Amino acid sequence: MYLKNSKAITVLISFICFFAICAGLFAYAHHIGSPVLESGRLEWISRVIYGPNVRREIARLKHAKELSPEVFPITALCYHEVRPDRADDFLNVNPEILRRHIREFREAGFTFIDVDDLRQYEAGTAQPPEKAVLLSFDDGYADNYKYAYPVLREEKVTGTFFVVSSMVGKDNRMTAGQLKEMQANGMKIGSHTVNHEVLTKKSAEQIDYELRVSREQLETMLGKPVYALAYPTGYVNSTVQSIAEKYYDMAFIASVIPDAKQTRYTLQRYGVFNWNEHIESIFRNR
Ligand SMILES: [Zn+2]
Repeated sequence: MYLKNSKAITVLISFICFFAICAGLFAYAHHIGSPVLESGRLEWISRVIYGPNVRREIARLKHAKELSPEVFPITALCYHEVRPDRADDFLNVNPEILRRHIREFREAGFTFIDVDDLRQYEAGTAQPPEKAVLLSFDDGYADNYKYAYPVLREEKVTGTFFVVSSMVGKDNRMTAGQLKEMQANGMKIGSHTVNHEVLTKKSAEQIDYELRVSREQLETMLGKPVYALAYPTGYVNSTVQSIAEKYYDMAFIASVIPDAKQTRYTLQRYGVFNWNEHIESIFRNR
């Protein structure tokens, strides 16, 4: 009897130890962001047990606030193409993955904002939420209207679209009519310059043209003020920045550099790519 009991206890303890070790390994792998968890069953199990891991991002936002107290820190994302095919194109995110990102951010307690909200926080006319995420889309691809816009409307999120003014209506890009319809339904349209040139390689006159004329063309086309800019490829220097300050209220780069000070004209965004299946991998910035 005694022997039988001790055997049962040993088996029970072994089981408890086994589960404790497994849970510990998952927790550790999740914490360090092990690449093995990027996709597949382990990642799924890990998410079921621990949910979206946003600690890293919250720590970054806190650090960003300390580095640049004058700028309201937000999580801003930069998407490009959004279509169900072209899985191999690293700049393309499947519309259903975009929807998953939105739901994961919501589940993690984030509030969706756009450039208009950001302008109001800066002006002090609205109170920023504790965790804010801004979804933006660069280059004005036609698939943004066809695939991203319906997902945003279904999920009740307003996105910000940075459009190359000379390309509107041309070669796989959104038309003025589509942009106006999106704008009428709450989407915000910003400038991504006239010709999508790398501004840091241009003269002051050319930079002035790209920033001033794109704003004028978009305002004429859309009938609303354009006050936000995204630098093509994200490159900016002091000349580009000082000209951006003349024509815009804010401007975004296309990467997140945790130790760099942000200004309203160097707002950082995470690039979102085809390998970013969940928001944790966006936060890991790769
Ligand atoms: Zn671009």
